[in-house]
Amino acid sequence: MRFDIVIVGAGLAGASLAAALKGSRYRIALIDSRPPAPAPDGWDSRVYAVSPAAQGFLQEVGAWQHLAAERLTPVYDMAIRGDGDGLLDFSAYDSGADQLAWIVEAGLIQRELREGVKRQGNVTLICPAQPERLEMREDAVLLGLTSGQTLEAGLIVGADGADSWVRAQAGMQADTLLYGEMGVVANFECEKPHRNTAFQWFRADGVLAWLPLPGNRISMVWSTPETHAHELLGLDAPKLCGRVAKAGNDRLGALSLQAPPAAFPLRLTRVPRIVAPRLALIGDAAHAIHPLSGHGINLGFLDARALAGVLQALPEFGDCGDERHLRRYARARAEEVALLQWTTHGLQRLFRPSHPALSLVRNLGLNLTDSLPVLRNMLVRYALG
Ligand SMILES: Cc1cc2nc3c(=O)[nH]c(=O)nc-3n(C[C@H](O)[C@H](O)[C@H](O)COP(=O)(O)OP(=O)(O)OC[C@H]3O[C@@H](n4cnc5c(N)ncnc54)[C@H](O)[C@@H]3O)c2cc1C
Repeated sequence: MRFDIVIVGAGLAGASLAAALKGSRYRIALIDSRPPAPAPDGWDSRVYAVSPAAQGFLQEVGAWQHLAAERLTPVYDMAIRGDGDGLLDFSAYDSGADQLAWIVEAGLIQRELREGVKRQGNVTLICPAQPERLEMREDAVLLGLTSGQTLEAGLIVGADGADSWVRAQAGMQADTLLYGEMGVVANFECEKPHRNTAFQWFRADGVLAWLPLPGNRISMVWSTPETHAHELLGLDAPKLCGRVAKAGNDRLGALSLQAPPAAFPLRLTRVPRIVAPRLALIGDAAHAIHPLSGHGINLGFLDARALAGVLQALPEFGDCGDERHLRRYARARAEEVALLQWTTHGLQRLFRPSHPALSLVRNLGLNLTDSLPVLRNMLVRYALG
């Protein structure tokens, strides 16, 4: 089967790229090895803080406006606490923004994007499908599937996550640092209203974040050493609620568990070259970061937007796999990705349990940032994209 572009991975990055190429001249194959996850009965415990820039992109591709409004939560304030007396507060009002971010369940965006591309005339969704062979030729890419099918295209896009098969098959370098931490996620109902505030505590046992959900609910991401993560996963519901409420200084009163906890390993992956002749990487395949800044998929969405922009701008007979064009995409993304990766990594290092002297420095840093409105507003503006 012949296509212009084959996208491997129909996660948020891959599906949003296909959606962004709607109406273009490209015939696209979007493949994924896993069938779409069924909609959960209640609330998805995996939620994302979607930045205003990423929200704008989802709106452009027609996904945002179809998300159920009652499942979206705007964040108006953010309260960050250090492990000493450090504190840093951001507010959308002070920064002249409508909101700092939107909290959205991962499954909700995923289903909307997949449904959208299913109806898209220029996309063939092949799922589940397992690729087993990649041949990069000068004039085309050949992708062999375990079903016996071979897909031929001018460009292959690896959107297949942090352990990217495409990246490995193409022999592209990736430097991975495992943090030895897991992100434990769970949803809770809380006693007191969260008032659309996102809370984050830099604690001796990791970074605890509470993100507001509709009503009196919150979603927790606790990035913590593996042993502690397993201990949390092993607690029964009342004990977990008690532990999480106490870790957050009982800020929202008593908690009750809404969805069982799950945990994800955390890593930093740097990929020095994200393009090659007839190949481009997007999303976690191109960069994985610690979730403490809540920017992983926001970067992935902006990759998709940048790559779609470059491809759409090509003249009618332009070769979409020509590396000279693909390098424009790589250049457009390099600075933001490097900046966020190193800032997030630096924060993780500064706040991990270590020397007590560092505790003074980091809490002083938070307080200084809080008392310098220009610096604080610059950080907010950056977070808003
Ligand atoms: C605990 C935690 C909390 C997070 N919170 C946030 C947050 O608040 N905000 C934020 O922006 N980011 C957050 N992130 C990061 C975010 O989850 C990732 O950046 C995002 O999921 C990456 O999307 P992706 O589409 O690039 O990759 P993935 O989500 O990994 O999707 C890859 C897709 O490729 C498919 N695939 C894999 N291998 C193959 C193969 N060989 N063949 C075919 N298909 C394949 C998979 O089935 C999958 O569908 C968080 C991460 C963690 C761990």
